[in-house]
Amino acid sequence: MHDITAAFHEVKQRIAAASEEAGRPADAVTLVAVSKTFDADEIRPVLDGGQRVFGENRVQEAQGKWPALRAAFPDLELHLIGPLQSNKAADAVALFDVIETVDREKIAAALGAEITKQKKDLRLYVQVNTGSEPQKAGIEPTEAVAFVSRCRDVHGLKIEGLMCIPPADENPGPHFALLEKLSREAGVAKLSMGMSGDYETATAFGATSVRVGSAIFGSR
Ligand SMILES: *Cc1c(COP(=O)(O)O)cnc(C)c1O
Repeated sequence: MHDITAAFHEVKQRIAAASEEAGRPADAVTLVAVSKTFDADEIRPVLDGGQRVFGENRVQEAQGKWPALRAAFPDLELHLIGPLQSNKAADAVALFDVIETVDREKIAAALGAEITKQKKDLRLYVQVNTGSEPQKAGIEPTEAVAFVSRCRDVHGLKIEGLMCIPPADENPGPHFALLEKLSREAGVAKLSMGMSGDYETATAFGATSVRVGSAIFGSR
């Protein structure tokens, strides 16, 4: 059987080792444990191991399991890492602490309105489609810098970073490098990049957070 606790500690160790190898401080990279499809029983051992930052890709699924866990662990930090529909913006703003998937005008406007209404200090990332894949969410790389500006100036959003999911069949390095370059041009400090298969590479390219699911919880 897959040992979630052992796998969690191994991922933590590998992030620390990759940070050291890259000459970065041990705490330079935040682990976002991606718990989508796993239930509270499987999430518990990771919470007991001290993990407090989690990622989910569906608003409805997260609403089903996180309110009870948050009551037990008030210092939780929940990230939405999946596509957001504007009719779910109110629920997403209410539940999440960080939304990593701002990628179009309509969502930026809906989030701006909800954040004002709920008076919530939400942290936000713009998702960039670094591989320009037609089926993938995210703003085109050529539009990313201007979009970050519009999010700030037109919609009043505090964008703190960029996020990407490189094409599955490509070397991720150039995509991570592109995201890092765009973050400098856009004037944002955070980079959410790297998943189970490439979080050590992402650490070398400057990730400030990595989103790791199956390497911790097992295959979905
Ligand atoms: C599922 C998911 C992850 C985690 O993927 P693993 O390969 O299981 O680590 C990371 N980021 C996003 C956006 C995801 O949807």
